[in-house]
Amino acid sequence: MTDMRDILQAASLLARHIPPTPMWSYPVLNAAAGAELWVKHENTQPIGAFKVRGGITLLAALPDRSRGVVAYSTGNHAQSIAYAARLFGTPCAIVMPENPNPSKVAAVEALGATVVIGGATMVEAADVAREEADRLGRRLISPADEPEIIAGVGTLYLEILLQRPDLDAIVVPVGSGTGAAAACLVARALAPGCQVIGVQSAAAPAAHDSWRLGEMVLRPMKTRVDGLATGSAYALPQQVMRDLLTDFLLVTDEEIRAAQRLMLTHAHTLAEGAGAAALAGVLNRREEFAGRKVAIVVSGGNAGPAELAALMGPQDA
Ligand SMILES: *Cc1c(COP(=O)(O)O)cnc(C)c1O
Repeated sequence: MTDMRDILQAASLLARHIPPTPMWSYPVLNAAAGAELWVKHENTQPIGAFKVRGGITLLAALPDRSRGVVAYSTGNHAQSIAYAARLFGTPCAIVMPENPNPSKVAAVEALGATVVIGGATMVEAADVAREEADRLGRRLISPADEPEIIAGVGTLYLEILLQRPDLDAIVVPVGSGTGAAAACLVARALAPGCQVIGVQSAAAPAAHDSWRLGEMVLRPMKTRVDGLATGSAYALPQQVMRDLLTDFLLVTDEEIRAAQRLMLTHAHTLAEGAGAAALAGVLNRREEFAGRKVAIVVSGGNAGPAELAALMGPQDA
């Protein structure tokens, strides 16, 4: 299991590759939310999302990485692994389900990885990736059940608590749960009084429901919020969250859209849907967060063309 020493080692590794991200507080946003919010800007990462921390940490630790890696994802995980593979000169294939978004294919190819199209859904793409890894003799990378990914992602929470050790809570958007699990580990070690609260879309609640029920369940995946769209829970992050996560909130996709707009107008920040989910969680529980010092993680800023158009359009679009 990942512990604080792994996270400190990841921090010392990552310092050689990517600078810490800024964290600011915006008085107008605070006034709108009724709390002292600290906005952690992972949208400023080179791939536009926090996942690169985990990708670099995982590939740095792979003993036989010259043999190559295979991952499956359409989103930020794909870019994270492709970015890290380029950094270490590792051959990299990313499997995406049929009819992928061309801009996501282009982003991965621009990082030098090969895109393999296979499977109708992400579950089938995972099978294709497994076959591809076997065939090529490469390491298959799980999106979340990888201790090094959790260690790398933990550096984000280390930066937050080093900057503001007096926080009352950290609110984390959850898809597979690596971010929330890492936040729990860092808070336990450095700031046991700081709550860690997860947020997921009510339209894809697999991680939330698994945490509440104490067992891994599958759930329909109907959210349009990419980074939060997982239909199943992952064992490793669930195991950490089970004991250490304070609470887990669900918000609607509409609340997330409203939070994205507030992020644009009040914090001059373009957050993708997942990157605004933490703010949506705070706004959903105003009374609970009122007057408290709360970090919200803008986990990414990779809004696609359709998402941008909807954001700029009429309020109810
Ligand atoms: C992957 C992702 C998430 C969810 O993170 P998990 O570690 O999978 O829970 C949130 N926001 C963005 C932008 C992401 O890419």
